[in-house]
Amino acid sequence: MRVATRYSHSIPKLVCPDGEDGLIISTENLNRIVNIDKEKMLVTVESGVTLMQLIDEAAKSGLALPYTPYWLGLTIGGLLGTGAHGSTLWADGSAIHDHVVQMRIVTPGSHEDGYATVRTLEDNGELDGEMMAAKVSLGVLGVISQVTLKLQPMFKRSVTFLTKNDSDLSDQVATFGRQHEFADMIWYPSQNRVVYRIDDRVSSNVSGNGLWDHPGFRATPSLALIALRLTEELQEATGDITGKCIGGKLTTDILINTAYGLTNNGLLFTGYPVIGYQNRLQASGGCLTGLIDAKITACRWDPRVNGLFFHQTTISIALSKAKDFIQDIQKLASIAAQSLCGLDIYNGILMRYVTGSNAYIGEQEDSLEFDITYYRSKDPKTPRLFEDVLEEIEQMAVFKYGGLPHWGKNRNVAFEGAIKEYKNAGEFLKVKEKYDPLGLFSSEWTDQVLGLRGGLTIVKEGCALEGLCVCSEDIHCAPEKGYLCRPGKVFQDARVCTLVQVSNQSSSKAEL
Ligand SMILES: Cc1cc2nc3c(=O)[nH]c(=O)nc-3n(C[C@H](O)[C@H](O)[C@H](O)COP(=O)(O)OP(=O)(O)OC[C@H]3O[C@@H](n4cnc5c(N)ncnc54)[C@H](O)[C@@H]3O)c2cc1C
Repeated sequence: MRVATRYSHSIPKLVCPDGEDGLIISTENLNRIVNIDKEKMLVTVESGVTLMQLIDEAAKSGLALPYTPYWLGLTIGGLLGTGAHGSTLWADGSAIHDHVVQMRIVTPGSHEDGYATVRTLEDNGELDGEMMAAKVSLGVLGVISQVTLKLQPMFKRSVTFLTKNDSDLSDQVATFGRQHEFADMIWYPSQNRVVYRIDDRVSSNVSGNGLWDHPGFRATPSLALIALRLTEELQEATGDITGKCIGGKLTTDILINTAYGLTNNGLLFTGYPVIGYQNRLQASGGCLTGLIDAKITACRWDPRVNGLFFHQTTISIALSKAKDFIQDIQKLASIAAQSLCGLDIYNGILMRYVTGSNAYIGEQEDSLEFDITYYRSKDPKTPRLFEDVLEEIEQMAVFKYGGLPHWGKNRNVAFEGAIKEYKNAGEFLKVKEKYDPLGLFSSEWTDQVLGLRGGLTIVKEGCALEGLCVCSEDIHCAPEKGYLCRPGKVFQDARVCTLVQVSNQSSSKAEL
């Protein structure tokens, strides 16, 4: 039995029940704003309410949620399920679950009593174990039906995107997040460029009615999505890395020149800083309200269109280690020039600050999350151009730097052993045992990522290409296409699928 939401945005198999007789409980109609208490600045919503609904309704009462994910289409139940967040190191932190004050959850109970239990959990300043488990639960405790969140009086922000060379990025990351409340960075390692989001609260007297309508979240013509995909498939098939670099640079230039969809008044971008109300700047979701016939326009990731198809590696690295991780990526990029051009087509590496949380399986300490999106072949046995470089970055993040995978993103490899990094994972499992002793809300996948059963690594032909395993033999890559299992270039302990070309004249092998 699993809870599914209106759109189901998570990438791993979180929503899938096992077998053929599994039950899916939808929260699509659990979509009411229950109450807004202006005086106490609290909002109570049913769990299927979207972030867009919540932000809009709160704004009507002059209230705002300070830190949220950037995409408006997520539901409250879903984003709590995976610990979703925005970017800050300030105040109560970047994750929505750290702003929850009350939660109602329906848990199944045991066979003996035959009844489900409705529980109301509170965060009243004292650390309540059950609340700390329910804040981020992967949906294994039962169904969250209602959530009460703490809000703030509506405020204004001032946003400037500043493009700089990335030579001192590794030194900047530790301090930048403390200097600006809503700081984040978009990094284009192949272009040695980084875009800093200089973003702070300003007095409500400062004029401005800015809006953020991120182009990546706007309704896009389905034909354009198909054309983009065909272009990338052709570039992959013909090894046209130069084409990818040109396309990536063009995409980046357009985004920078159009201020990533920021406008000063809802229509035009006339220059920085863009000043506006929190509800208009904190997140975007143009394609939620655009024309919804997928034959004409769609959200870019809509599976009904034969458009974008990608992997997403999203891993948080403790702030104290972020500097070294960035330097390792820079070393890799300098050894294999052009190897990271493919990222630019998907808007580079988004780096967001995430704060340590008391949620048992929430973020463990203040960290920097690296969000990396990249081409995925429709054929699981076809490697990507520079397959090895992104595999090495993924393994470095997880195994060298002990990074934590975002529960709602990532490939199997990123979850291998991750649960051991959560010091209170045992406490989480105790609450799970109490709330759902029969494991009715658990699935093979949730058991695997929670370390309750093996099988996260699936060893078979070509398994490393899809992130199902770390290769240990050539057959886990694509030997017939020249991709063999080799050590990493910077992280020697990594094992990655590397293109090894055999030269006819000398019969020697050269690693590309
Ligand atoms: C375009 C896009 C942008 C994104 N942006 C961000 C971002 O800025 N920051 C970020 O952190 N993440 C982001 N994500 C990832 C996203 O936050 C997570 O995948 C999120 O969990 C998805 O929410 P959903 O409502 O679609 O839930 P689903 O993916 O449907 O569900 C997630 C989990 O929660 C469980 N669940 C859902 N509702 C309930 C309930 N009522 N009770 C109990 N369990 C429940 C489900 O069973 C499942 O295990 C983004 C994803 C996409 C596709």
